[in-house]
Amino acid sequence: MTQNKTVPTRTREIHLASRPHGAPGPENFRLVHTDLPELAPGQVLVANTVMSVDPYMRGRMNDAKSYVPPFQVGAPLDGGAVGTVIASRSEEVPVGASVLHALGWREHAVLPAASVRAVDTSQVADSAYLGVLGMPGMTAYAGLLYAAEMVPGDVVFVSGAAGAVGSLVGQIARLSGASRVIGSAGSPEKVARLRELGFDAALNYRDGSLSEQLGAAAPDGIDVYFDNVGGDHLEAAITHLRTDGRVAMCGAISQYNATEPTCAPRNLALAIGKRLTLRGFIVGKYAEQVRPEFTARVGAWLTQGEIQWDETVRDGLQSAPQAFIDMLAGANTGKMLVRL
Ligand code: NAP
Repeated sequence: MTQNKTVPTRTREIHLASRPHGAPGPENFRLVHTDLPELAPGQVLVANTVMSVDPYMRGRMNDAKSYVPPFQVGAPLDGGAVGTVIASRSEEVPVGASVLHALGWREHAVLPAASVRAVDTSQVADSAYLGVLGMPGMTAYAGLLYAAEMVPGDVVFVSGAAGAVGSLVGQIARLSGASRVIGSAGSPEKVARLRELGFDAALNYRDGSLSEQLGAAAPDGIDVYFDNVGGDHLEAAITHLRTDGRVAMCGAISQYNATEPTCAPRNLALAIGKRLTLRGFIVGKYAEQVRPEFTARVGAWLTQGEIQWDETVRDGLQSAPQAFIDMLAGANTGKMLVRL
């Protein structure tokens, strides 16, 4: 075993204290001090430096079957994190390596070396691997170009446009030859930021009818809708999609805290006459197929300064639950992260 001189024996982690009904609150989380186990052969100990809070984690707080298993009450939450290996019983992953892995929501993680991915933090910040070069970036890239099959000349509308995924969708659409890029978000500051990022039009969905605003921003209709929000946003997009239009159904954040089923979109039958394609997708589907292309193209855009990415960063593990709660309520611009 190799290790740094100061390897801790205890750590802190966030547990699920109870399942929320509706919007989660601080009472659903608990900060727990715990012993770190001895490393088994093949394992590494990672000191996490930054962790992600993501909308999909809201679904995992419910006791419901989904594409990822639910969090368990009384057990630590998990999710994307980047950190530094401080002890290792693996020849493949040495002490000092920066790694991406899936045991966030804790200050230290013990896990098999095979389940971490080495990342190069000499050129970009560790947090980029939880954002533009990580899962949200892949979601934006694959969702737009593969699920929605965007082609040059398309008019593209994306909701949740100031968030981690949405802000990248808009920029990738522009860089991929969209004729017009429209984004919606929930505050005047976010709308102003979208214009700085190169969106042709930006709408505040809290400023009255989204459908009317979208109609004014795209008088000849849209070809692609990248849906992060669902509900009324999907309904507005269906109204304004042109014949053979395509929807990448990425998320439905307007419904994640709902305690009753929501009724929109009420105009789904329009999809028939307009020959629309509505394709749900999970980023993992594209992980193997698209990752090399994603890494090469988005990496090049980053190097050339063609893509910008925003972060909203909270400090300390103890602030992770509130960071998550606030992200669901729209407090973030770009990726919501917790620096550990
Ligand atoms: P994000 O957009 O960075 O953060 C969530 C944002 O959602 C908030 O900042 C808020 O912004 C917006 N929001 C919250 N409630 C809303 C409502 N009722 N109506 C409209 N907007 C609302 O999160 P993200 O990580 O980039 O994820 C965006 C979407 O992609 C989510 O739906 C997520 O579940 C989905 N996703 C899917 C996959 C996949 O594989 N399919 C992968 C990653 C993410 P405003 O201030 O603008 O309201």
